[in-house]
Order: sequence, then structure tokens, then C-alpha cells
Amino acid sequence: MAATHNQEPTQLFWFRRDLRLNDNHGLFSALNNGKVIACFVWDRDLLNTLQLDNPRVNFIHQSVCEIKQQLQLIGSDLIVLYGNTQEQLLKLLTTYKIKTLHWNEDYEPWAIIRDQQIQKDFMDYEIHCKMYKDQTIFAKREILTQQSKPYSVYSAYKNTWLKKLAHEGCQSYLSENLLTNFHQLQPQKDDFTPLQHGFEQLPALTGGATQAQQRLLNFTSKLATYNLNRDYPFQDLTSYIGVDLRFGTLSIRQAVQLATSQNNDGSLTWLSELIWRDFFSQVLFNFPYVVTQAFRIEYNNLAYTNNPVWFTAWCNGQTGFPIVDAGMRQLNQTGFMHNRVRMICASFLCKDLLIDWRWGETYFAKKLLDYDLASNNGNWQWCASTGCDAQPYFRIFNPYLQSQKFDPDGEYIRKFIPELSHLDNKTIHCPSNAD
Ligand SMILES: Cc1cc2nc3c(=O)[nH]c(=O)nc-3n(C[C@H](O)[C@H](O)[C@H](O)COP(=O)(O)OP(=O)(O)OC[C@H]3O[C@@H](n4cnc5c(N)ncnc54)[C@H](O)[C@@H]3O)c2cc1C
Repeated sequence: MAATHNQEPTQLFWFRRDLRLNDNHGLFSALNNGKVIACFVWDRDLLNTLQLDNPRVNFIHQSVCEIKQQLQLIGSDLIVLYGNTQEQLLKLLTTYKIKTLHWNEDYEPWAIIRDQQIQKDFMDYEIHCKMYKDQTIFAKREILTQQSKPYSVYSAYKNTWLKKLAHEGCQSYLSENLLTNFHQLQPQKDDFTPLQHGFEQLPALTGGATQAQQRLLNFTSKLATYNLNRDYPFQDLTSYIGVDLRFGTLSIRQAVQLATSQNNDGSLTWLSELIWRDFFSQVLFNFPYVVTQAFRIEYNNLAYTNNPVWFTAWCNGQTGFPIVDAGMRQLNQTGFMHNRVRMICASFLCKDLLIDWRWGETYFAKKLLDYDLASNNGNWQWCASTGCDAQPYFRIFNPYLQSQKFDPDGEYIRKFIPELSHLDNKTIHCPSNAD
């Protein structure tokens, strides 16, 4: 079990939402500081809160297994632990002489509290913890207004973000060039499998950095026309890297480098989407109350009717509105939903069914493979008109018009609602109009 040099002071790197060996800021710094051992912890308490059809557990497992295999190939290993995170990390101190614990920052409120506690626990043993920005290009309070306040309007944030990027660039951290600094380790036991804990294997995207690179590569030829194609859910023309950015199987810097390597309408539009992700991350960090409340607190007590029967119909894709039902069925079957349809389904829930956006947000959180608290919350609040930079409350997506515009031949609807596939291209958007 022990490192071959277990009495030598060691750097410990803790993998979390950064499941890759390449361009990993925290790992790069750890490897630059000396010999490294790396660990990943399956947090028992967190797993216990998840439903067994959660699509993300298998994705994480595949990604962790890939890192383990890659490290074994160079004579090291990934130490995979299961239990209470704090206890498991502290237990490593009984086997290894750890000098510094390194990790990449996580900006979710609960993670910030956990990390502060772990830092304190390790300080009690006189072990320093070092944290790094890796998840976003700019984080926390790096981008502020002239009044030194966090932005709440996307367009202004984006302008400042672009200026800062032009000034500072987007540097990679080539951790992949330092892998010889991993400690040689005997193969480590790893008993955890999602199946053994009851988690189902869904037909979702496969985890691991290799697959993430493949997804980015597949998208490269689609980038220049992304602005023209991204809104059509029947086409396969977005990147599908949301989950890779969520779990760090792809570096955000690599995505931004791809976007800035071209200068066309497609690449500029895609870069704007990546900036939305940074924007919502800083909203969550600076206004953590949004987790439970409306960003615009005057909208906290909207008179939703919250009809539970309608909510169940929405969840199951049985509202009778084809584009909404197709979207919800795509989500339930694959763990993914096209962005345009996410907007249609969210708007429909809040503004047609008059159901609280938090109900929809929670359902998406259970089902989405790329679920990310900051992006999910920010987008739901945007759709519900309660958020920062909200669309005005009187802008309501008409599901029929959206369907005709973005799925004109009903291809997407036919794929997920086969019982409507016999309808012609006009009627399929609104079957109640059929003769
Ligand atoms: C109601 C609702 C809920 C959403 N929940 C999530 C979520 O939980 N996690 C999530 O990553 N995205 C969420 N989004 C944003 C968006 O739908 C997804 O990021 C996108 O569909 C993922 O597909 P893709 O990787 O092919 O994206 P692409 O179109 O290829 O975009 C590239 C990347 O840019 C980022 N991005 C794109 N659009 C947005 C956006 N509107 N806000 C923030 N980042 C964006 C994502 O990281 C995405 O992977 C939500 C949108 C809506 C309307």
C-alpha cells in the first residue's frame, strides 16, 4: 500500500472536478514542488443523497479509472478512497509523510465550507494546503465593475472579460510534461464500482479525458458555423463538452484556446457561451443566496400555482406540447437536452404552467449529465426572469412557434416522440390541429 519512499516528504494532489492529467493547474504546481501522490475520494455522504439513476456517477467512475490506468502505466497509481472525505484524507497521513496538499478550487458554497474545514484539519498537522484556479478562466472577484462590484449584467461582464483575456492571455499548465514526478507506487486497491452501489448505467456520454479530447476534435470542424447551427436541436452541431468542463476531463483553457484560434462568427459565438459559464460561476460565488432565492429578491414570492399533476406531466414528457415533451424525453433517456429546448422547457414550466423555477431546476439537477449548480441556477433564473440580466417577465416563449422555427420538419420531435412520427411536418408541432 505505501509509497516506495513513504518517509520522504510528499506532495499530495487531490483530484476533484479536474479529472485529467493534462493542463491541470493544481497538478502542475504539485508536480513542480516535488514527488507527488494523488488521490480521489468517493464521498459517501454525497453519494447517499443521489438517486440511483443519476447519470454522473458512471461518468466520474470512467474518468477516475482512466487516470488510474494512466498512472499505473508509469509505475504510479491513483489512490481511490470511499467514505467521509475529511476522514479519508486525514487517514492518508498515517501512511504517507505529506508536506503539502494541493487542490483546484471549487466555487460552490458547500464546497467552499468543506475545503475551509479540510484546510483547518491539515493545518493542525502543520501541513499546508494550496489551492489553484482551474475551473474557469476568471473566477471569484477577478472581474469587477469600475465601482469594484461584481457584474450582474452579462454583456458588460463579457466586454471586461475579453479585455482581460487579451491582456493576460490564456496560459496552459503542462502537467502532462511532469508525470515522471509521480511517486512510484504499488498497485492500489480500488473496490468502488457504481453498480455495486446500485447506480444504473445510462446510455450517456462516456467519461475520461480521452473521450473529451475526441469530442473537442469532432467539434473543431463545426466551430466556424456554430452561430448558424447551434439553435437546431435535430442537428448534432454543438460540442457536447458541457460534462467535460463540469468534471474537468477537459481544460477550460483548451476550449478557450480553440475558440480564439479562429476569428469568425462561429468561434466568437462559441466563446461567448464559454464566457456565460464564467459569468454564472462568479454570480454564484458573489451572490450565493441565489441557490435558494431569486437573484432579484423582489421576485422571491411570485404567485406560482405549482400544480403537482402538471409538474409530473412535464417531468415525464407528457404535457401534450410536442417540443416540450421531446426535450423532457431526451433528458430522461440520455441525460442531455439541447440548449434551445432547455430554454423552451424551462420557460414553459415557469410561464405557462406557472410552476416555481426551483422545481424545474431541481429536476434538471437530478437528470443532467452536465449538471452544474452555477450554470443550471443561472439559466433557470434567466428563463424565469428572476435572475441577473434576466429576460423581461413579459417575454414568453411560444412553444408552437419555437417548434416551427427550430425544428421545422419535426425531426427532433419524431426522434423522441415516435407516436407522433406519422404526422405531417405542419401538424406535428400542434397535433390538436389535426383534422
Ligand atoms: C434551463 C437551463 C439549464 C441549464 N443547465 C445547465 C447545466 O446544468 N450545466 C451546464 O453546463 N449548462 C447548462 N445550461 C446551458 C447550456 O444549455 C449547456 O451548457 C449546453 O446545452 C451544453 O451543450 P454543449 O456542451 O453542446 O454546448 P455548446 O453549445 O457547445 O457550448 C459550449 C459550452 O459553453 C457553455 N455554455 C453554453 N451555453 C451556456 C449557458 N447558457 N450558460 C452557461 N454555460 C453555457 C457550456 O460549458 C458548454 O458546454 C442550461 C441552460 C438552460 C436554458
